[in-house]
This record gives sequence, C-alpha cells and structure tokens, in this order.
Amino acid sequence: MITFYPGPSKVYPQVVGFVKDAHDSGILSANHRSGEFMELMENTIREMKIKLLIPENYTVFFTSSATECWEIIAQSLISKSTLHLFNGAFGEKWFQNTKKINPSKLIHSYAFSAHHSLTLTELEKLAGKNPEMICFTQNETSNGTCLAPSFIRQLRDAYPQSLLAVDATSSMAGISLPFECADLWFASVQKCFGLPSGMAVMLCSPKAVEKALEMGEKEHYNSLSNIIENSRKFQTPYTPNVLGIYLLHRILQMRPIITETDLQIRKQADDLYAFFEKQSSLKLLVDRQAARSPTVLALISEKEKISVIKEKAREQNIILGNGYGEWKENSIRIANFPAIESNEIEQLKDFIISMA
Ligand SMILES: *Cc1c(COP(=O)(O)O)cnc(C)c1O
Repeated sequence: MITFYPGPSKVYPQVVGFVKDAHDSGILSANHRSGEFMELMENTIREMKIKLLIPENYTVFFTSSATECWEIIAQSLISKSTLHLFNGAFGEKWFQNTKKINPSKLIHSYAFSAHHSLTLTELEKLAGKNPEMICFTQNETSNGTCLAPSFIRQLRDAYPQSLLAVDATSSMAGISLPFECADLWFASVQKCFGLPSGMAVMLCSPKAVEKALEMGEKEHYNSLSNIIENSRKFQTPYTPNVLGIYLLHRILQMRPIITETDLQIRKQADDLYAFFEKQSSLKLLVDRQAARSPTVLALISEKEKISVIKEKAREQNIILGNGYGEWKENSIRIANFPAIESNEIEQLKDFIISMA
C-alpha cells in the first residue's frame, strides 16, 4: 500500500525500529521531570534547530496538534485585535477558532482567492494598518496553495511591530522557511515530518516570548507563559508525548539539513506539476504557478471522475487524498512529502497515465 494522503501521511519506514528502540531504552517509563527526559527534550530541540535552520534565540516546544497551537495563540497572545489572512479551509478554521475564543476582541479577516498570490498592496487597503498580530497559513493543505518566503519577508518589513503567526503544518520539514521573518511558527508532525500523529512543534521568537510573558495569561493547562517557563528547564506543564518526542529526535538525526530536502522536494514538485499539466483526466486546481504548493498538489475534475480515479487507485493499493472543504467532492490531493520515495511517485504517474 502506498499513500499520498496529505496527513496523516506516509511515515518513514524507520519509525517502526525507532519505536522498539524507544521501548528498549526505558525512556517511555521515565518521569517527565527526570534528567533523562530533560536531556531528550534538549537534544531534540537542538537537533531541530540544526536540521531546520531555526534561529538559536527562538524558543521551541511541543504541543499535541496544530489545532492546539491555534488555541494557544488565541488564548495567550491577543490583547485587543488580530488579522487573519486565508484562502482556504484550514486558514478559515483558524480564524473561526480565534473568534470563538475571543468573543469580545476585534478579530479581523481577509479572504483572498486561491488562484492569486496575495500582495502587500492588497493588504494595505485593510483597516488598522498596524494589527497587533497577523495570522496566516503558509501552506494551505486544503487547496494546494502556498505563500512564498519572499512574501513573508515583505510582510515582516511592512509590519515590523506586529507579531506574525504562521501555520506551516504541511510545509515545515519539507521546504526551507524564513523563520527569522515571523514570530510564531507551528506544524503537526503527521505531515512533512513523516511521523505518527499526536504531536506538534511550535517556535516562538524572542518578541513572541516577551509578549506572552508580559500578558502572563495563566488560565489554561496550555497557557503560553507556563509552557515557556517550563521549556526553559526542558520540561513541560503536563506529561508530554514522550514517544513522539523520541521519534522526532531520531528522524531529525537521520535527515539531511533542510536546504537539501528543499531542493529535492521542489525538483520533485516541478516534475509532478509538469506531468499533471499534460494530463487530460485531471486539471491542476491552482492556475497561478507562484501560488502552487511544492508539498501538496490539488487536482480537479468532475465529481464522478474523481470518485472513479480514487476507487481504481485503491484497487491498485494507491491511496490518494480526498478533496477538502469546498473542493471535497471534485478534487484529489497528493502529498509530495519527504518520506515518499521516488519509485512511489513513478507508480503514481503510471497509474494516472493508465486512467487517461
Ligand atoms: C493538518 C493541518 C492542520 C491540523 O492539524 P492537527 O494536527 O490535526 O491539529 C492545521 N493546519 C494545516 C495547514 C494543516 O494542514
């Protein structure tokens, strides 16, 4: 069985051996205030900073999911207002979530088209000009679009005072990201990290840390100021996903530096996009090349055709991702994540050709 589902997605084949190693090492039964656990946490964070090129002065910690990161940001970092930018289902869900948690604050939104790249000129029209925080999804998994690193740099320059919060769930560990240009980044590990679900990573710039401590919100089990204070001792407020952290450490040790993965993923993506441009059975959902995601491809066709393609694929032990949100019935999604091997991509192409 090979899977191109964009989350949970294919886990690295090495994971099974690492699970056994985790058990045999005794770490799974170690107390989370013990030296043994703190050492694992410290080593995992160090390895993340090295392999993903995360600035040394960023605070890194683990949560249970990207959804939890939405909540942490909404609870612990908004004093008056925030602005959400989105063009798809995940970004919109994040916005709705923030609104629900902050009924009395000003939660603004700006929805842009999946077919166009967002520009700063568009944003300048928005009220406020200096929002306290700007939240956006770097890689919109629901429709296969992305915001370019160069756009994030422009946003940083245009809004030096605002906190920038980025959902990078389906791109972190797959492509290089300009971490220094935003204050909060997060991703759950069941996508580009190639790990089992149940954990997410979150990065905070010194400015985000300062704001969280200044606000000092402590009403929740996952209040950001508590998490930050614990993470300084390489601890967590509650018992963490020790197996998840262990597996993340082992996978990161095995992986090359992100710039290498980035090259490989982008090359593979260019190749896949060129391939699908020539297919008549499926059409790329995103017209504009610059807005196309390197890690998640979305393809559309008639509803009936989509269900036939998914079913035939399944007969050949190939799992394609279902559509999501407004494209649920008339699209499929294909993950181009680092754990997927080139021979699996060749099998996918052969299958698509056979459907023509
Ligand atoms: C998958 C995904 C999420 C949700 O992740 P969970 O780990 O299920 O909370 C959020 N945002 C994006 C962009 C995603 O792709």
